[in-house]
Amino acid sequence: MPVKLELLDSDTAPILTSFLYSAEYPLLIGIVVDEEVVAAEERIEEKKEIEKEKEKEEKKIQKEKEKIEKEKAEEEEKKRKGIKTVRCSGVRSNGERCKLTTETAEKKYLCPHHMAFTDGMDRDGDGVKEYRCTFIKKNGEQCKMKGEYGKKKRCYHHD
Ligand SMILES: [Zn+2]
Ligand SMILES: [Zn+2]
Repeated sequence: MPVKLELLDSDTAPILTSFLYSAEYPLLIGIVVDEEVVAAEERIEEKKEIEKEKEKEEKKIQKEKEKIEKEKAEEEEKKRKGIKTVRCSGVRSNGERCKLTTETAEKKYLCPHHMAFTDGMDRDGDGVKEYRCTFIKKNGEQCKMKGEYGKKKRCYHHD
């Protein structure tokens, strides 16, 4: 019968050990002691489990709080700078207002599709200049495609 003597104090352990070997009902004592030890261990485990859960929960709440605080601070910062979400005032080819938006302190916004285009500008800011395709169509119109076309200045249709 396993008796966890290490869990008993040094006064009780030797007495109990000798008792277990000499008593008339060592088995019975063994069971009683063992169950108590196991029950105590289980309680400790349970408590640890509960505390762990609690800690996890608290951490989660703390994180959530920090997130909200951060968002609030960012919101305040934007307000202070007058930054709002502004929708592109360009009109799409189907006549609908462009749906693209940006966060800016400016009153007006034109997305890269709708901003006034001049050759050699870098609309996406990646350091590569953009050009309008130089191809002239049969009807005499210049192709409307614009992009990072390199030296050839031709879109993928007219390359
Ligand atoms: Zn647009
Ligand atoms: Zn083209």
